[in-house]
Amino acid sequence: MTNELQLSIVVPVYNEEDNIEPLYKELGGELDKMGYNYEVIVIDDGSRDGSYARLKAVHERDPRWQIIRFRRNFGQTSAMSAGFAAARAPVVVTIDADLQNDPADIPKLLAKMNEGYDIVSGWRMNRKEPFIQRRLPSIMANRLISRTTGVQLHDYGCTLKVYPAEVVKNVRLYGELHRFIPALASEIGVTVAEVPVKDRARRFGKSKYGIGRTFRVILDLVTVNFLLSYARKPLQVFGGFGLLMGGLGGLILLYLAYVRIILAQDIGERPLLLLAILLVILGVQMISIGLVAEMVTRTYHESQQKTTYVIREWLRDGAPVPTGNAANGKVSEVVPTETPTSIS
Ligand code: UDP
Ligand code: MG
Repeated sequence: MTNELQLSIVVPVYNEEDNIEPLYKELGGELDKMGYNYEVIVIDDGSRDGSYARLKAVHERDPRWQIIRFRRNFGQTSAMSAGFAAARAPVVVTIDADLQNDPADIPKLLAKMNEGYDIVSGWRMNRKEPFIQRRLPSIMANRLISRTTGVQLHDYGCTLKVYPAEVVKNVRLYGELHRFIPALASEIGVTVAEVPVKDRARRFGKSKYGIGRTFRVILDLVTVNFLLSYARKPLQVFGGFGLLMGGLGGLILLYLAYVRIILAQDIGERPLLLLAILLVILGVQMISIGLVAEMVTRTYHESQQKTTYVIREWLRDGAPVPTGNAANGKVSEVVPTETPTSIS
């Protein structure tokens, strides 16, 4: 076995004080059993309970566990982005801190990855949560996301997933987009597989989400769809509509001109005239929006990457890391993965 890191485990934590020790025991125990060289990157997403103190104690005991502490609660997606930026191994595993995911499932996911898949997602087949509040919205959301993004997954919401580092380092995440990584990454042609995993009931602490998440996820889906299908060619979309409307308006105006000039009838009172003018104006506007959007997307793709979070402290190798830009992983474009990363 080499000294190279093989696995980076990314764990977002928000007010999970009673879960830290069990997490360390269970996750750490499983990882040790697996025998890889690993690092665990725990992101304390602005917890207001004793989570940080417990995490610090873990770091002092086991330097393979590094702790990134946010200045405030930036959300699970930002926490995971910080973990991705900090990850040093070629394979990244994400897992919840509340032990609803079973760390013993990690080898199954890695085995699937070694079959040649890029992203392997956990699929909680037997979910332990209430049907109406949690599972039903989740089933509907998963169908909708699968259908609209074309990446068929039963369980986008399962945090337990494994990714090649270069995939997660190159997908930029806002809002609650972390669950859409497989869909967003489909843009660069990754293969995605699912493996059934255990779902367990939360033992300590409370869930951080309510039913409102469903609506935010749906809105994020609009963003994802836009990014996946139109963001690279806005003029083709807006311009298409614009040409259609403008063209229709132009035809109606031609017809009205014929009526006015050849048939010598009055057209001033005709609703059709209003419609034609509206269509032409809308058409011109659509095309202009398309052009502006083209410029905006260029800025979007070419501008410097900024993180969506601010780090307070980052403990690694027994010493604080200066945080200025430490975690602001430089990533520019989405870069295709050359070979499926796997670990052996
Ligand atoms: N989490 C986080 N920041 C937040 C909300 C949640 O880091 O703003 C973490 C949380 O500590 C947990 C994971 O994200 O490790 C999943 O959250 P939760 O268990 O509340 O979600 P659920 O399992 O109910 O979907
Ligand atoms: Mg949970």
